[in-house]
Amino acid sequence: MVCLGCKKNIPIFKVICFGCLKIIYELSVNNSNEQKISSLFSYQEPLRSLVISAKVERNWLATQSLKKILSHSVRTQYLLEWADYVTPAPSSLWSRIHLKFDLAYILAHHLTRKTKATLVPPPWTTGWNISKQSKRKRRSPVHSTQAIPVDNRSKKNILLIDDVTTSGQTLNRLEKHFPHYNVRALCLCSAKS
Ligand SMILES: [Zn+2]
Repeated sequence: MVCLGCKKNIPIFKVICFGCLKIIYELSVNNSNEQKISSLFSYQEPLRSLVISAKVERNWLATQSLKKILSHSVRTQYLLEWADYVTPAPSSLWSRIHLKFDLAYILAHHLTRKTKATLVPPPWTTGWNISKQSKRKRRSPVHSTQAIPVDNRSKKNILLIDDVTTSGQTLNRLEKHFPHYNVRALCLCSAKS
């Protein structure tokens, strides 16, 4: 095996060497608690190679490393405490047509495994239409997707998960879709310089 960052030989079942992992942690971005969009790392080498390997080559070990890097962050833990619902950023139409590997979904799924937050489908699925969903639920109690319920007693929190982001467009769309929820986003890396 060779390191995805520096191409040095590394033990089997590893994709990145300790030195490159250290460089990734040095790419950490500071986020304040008030920020709506938190990005953990700057999208630079060797993190960039790790993300590309996971998304394009569907490298399982690279995906595992990204899951660990994301879930170990203090910022991630803070936001998972805050969130009632976690959802992956909807993938583009192009990726859906081409059945591209959905890293945002995999990361969101991983984060909800050990937390109180519930994983919900991204907005482009039918489950995201709250009014439609609640009507459907009243008629038939059995439904395969977990949708966000209507709850007027308190404002619930939705955390959007994305792998690489450059803009707050998706977050704005989500807010328009769910005016009665607090919406925040957590991105593994930010492509902004
Ligand atoms: Zn390396």
